[in-house]
Amino acid sequence: MKRCIVVFALGLAAGTAVLAYNLWAYCCGRCTLRGFLVIGPFEKTMIGLTLVAGLSLVALKAFRRRQLAGRRCNCGAMLSDAWAFCPECGVSRR
Ligand SMILES: [Zn+2]
Repeated sequence: MKRCIVVFALGLAAGTAVLAYNLWAYCCGRCTLRGFLVIGPFEKTMIGLTLVAGLSLVALKAFRRRQLAGRRCNCGAMLSDAWAFCPECGVSRR
């Protein structure tokens, strides 16, 4: 729950910063309203990098989840690599 609040607060801060920058750029004449809707090479690059970063995050999480599943006993206890038996239920790891 606390993590959700932190993620929400960071997303809200990032959205507010983008909105403030766009408002400032528009008011200073650095861009036009039509410019917000045009997807140029920089925007395409950023969209591509965001997709690559998101896919990398999903792949890393899946890899980590698979790694942790191999180190967990059927009873749910976390096992060290050096342990031959589960300290909770006594089942052999092999
Ligand atoms: Zn166990």
